[in-house]
Amino acid sequence: MKPRKVTVLGATGSIGESTLDLIGRTPERFEVVALTAGADADKLAELAIRHNARHATIADASKYSRLKDLLDGTDIEVSAGDDAVCQAAQMSSDWIMAAIVGAAGLKPTFSAATQGSCVALANKECLVSAGEVFLDAIKSAGATLLPVDSEHSAAFQAIDPSPASCIETITLTASGGPFREWTAEQLKDARPDQALIHPNWSMGQKITIDSATLMNKGLEIIEAFHLFPVQTDQLKILVHPQSIIHCLIQYCDGSVLSQLGSPDMRAPIAYSLAWPERMSAPVKRLDLAALGKLTFEEPDEKRFPSIRIAREAMNTGGTAPTVLNAANEIAVERFLAGQIGFMTIPKVVEATIEASISEIGIARASTLDEVLETDLAARRLAERFCGAYRIS
Ligand code: NAD
Ligand code: MG
Repeated sequence: MKPRKVTVLGATGSIGESTLDLIGRTPERFEVVALTAGADADKLAELAIRHNARHATIADASKYSRLKDLLDGTDIEVSAGDDAVCQAAQMSSDWIMAAIVGAAGLKPTFSAATQGSCVALANKECLVSAGEVFLDAIKSAGATLLPVDSEHSAAFQAIDPSPASCIETITLTASGGPFREWTAEQLKDARPDQALIHPNWSMGQKITIDSATLMNKGLEIIEAFHLFPVQTDQLKILVHPQSIIHCLIQYCDGSVLSQLGSPDMRAPIAYSLAWPERMSAPVKRLDLAALGKLTFEEPDEKRFPSIRIAREAMNTGGTAPTVLNAANEIAVERFLAGQIGFMTIPKVVEATIEASISEIGIARASTLDEVLETDLAARRLAERFCGAYRIS
C-alpha cells in the first residue's frame, strides 16, 4: 500500500507530539510532508529529522537561521514566517493534523482545508471562532473534517446511521478540572501553577487553563453545534471526573450510545489518522473492574460561569463566539502572566462580549478576513478590561 502523506501543524505541541508518536510506530505507512511549529526550532528540527519530514516550517521568522543551522546537511527544506506555515498547510497531503493552539491556527487550518483532503481538527478555536465560514471552506474544497477533540471524536464514533432527527441530546463529559471541589472563595485565589495541574489529561497550557475554568467545555459545546446535526438546546454537559466516558448520544427510543476509553489523546488521534479504518494504538486498555465505579455530577455554573457565557454566545450567534474566543485567549494569557485573577477570566470574557455587542457589533461574518477583524477588535477590548481588572 502507498504510504499516506501527512502534515502536522503544531507538531511540537501536546497533540502534535502524540500524533507523531503514532506515526513513528509504523513509519512505513506514512510519508511526512511538512511539520510546523510556533517558535521551538530545536524541537521542530529534532522531530523533522526523526520523522524524515520533507519540510520544516517555523512561524517565528527570527528562528529561521537557528532551524536552518540545525537542519544543515539534511534534505529537509526549511521555511519561516506565518505565510510559510500556511504554505506548508497547502502542500499536497492526504491528511493534515490542525493542532496549532488558538486563533493563531485559523489561517493555517483554512489553508489546510483548501486542498480538499482530510483535516483532522484539534484546533477547536477554529470552529468556535469561524464556525460557518470554516465549514463553508471545508465544503467548497470537498475536504473531509475529522474531529480530534476526544468528546467530538466519541460522538463521531457513536452517532449511528439513523436519521439525525432521532438524536435527542448529545452530552459532552467534562472532568471538572483541578478545581472541581474548590469553593467559590478558594477559586478567587487560584494560581496559575495550581490551574496547570490537570487531574486526567496532559495538554498544552492554554487548554489546561480552559479546563480549569470549564471554558473548554463551553468552547466544545460550540464546536459540537457546528459538527453535529443538533440545535443548541440539545447539547448537554455532564461532569464525569474519571474521563472514561467521553460522550453520550441519546436517541428518541431512550437508547444511549457512547464511546469509552482511557484518557489518552492518542485514541481519538489514531481514529482520525486511520479513518475510515482503525489502527492499533498504545492506549492503556480499560479495566472497569479495577476502576470500580464511574461517577457523574451536574456542572456548577455558579462557580464556573464560563459554561453559561459560552452557551449565551452560541445562542446569540453571529460573531459572538469569535469575540468569546478572542477575549478568552487574552484573559488566559494575562492570568498565566499573573496579571489577573482566576475568576477575572470569565469576567473579562463576559464584559468583552457585552461591549462588542454595543461597540463593534456581532453581525455574522461571511469571510475569514471578517472573522479576523472581529477577533482583533475583541482582543483590544479584552486587553482594556484586563487592564481595568489588573491585580495591583
Ligand atoms: P500546545 O500549546 O501544546 O501546542 C500548540 C502548538 O501550536 C505548538 O506546536 C506551537 O508551537 C504551535 N503554535 C503556537 N502558536 C503558534 C503560532 N502563532 N503560529 C504557528 N504555530 C503556533 O497545545 P495543544 O495542547 O497541543 O493543543 C493544540 C490544539 O488542540 C488546541 O486548539 C487545543 O484546544 C486542542 N486540543 C488539545 C487537546 C490536548 O490534549 N492537548 C485535546 C483536545 C483539543
Ligand atoms: Mg475535549
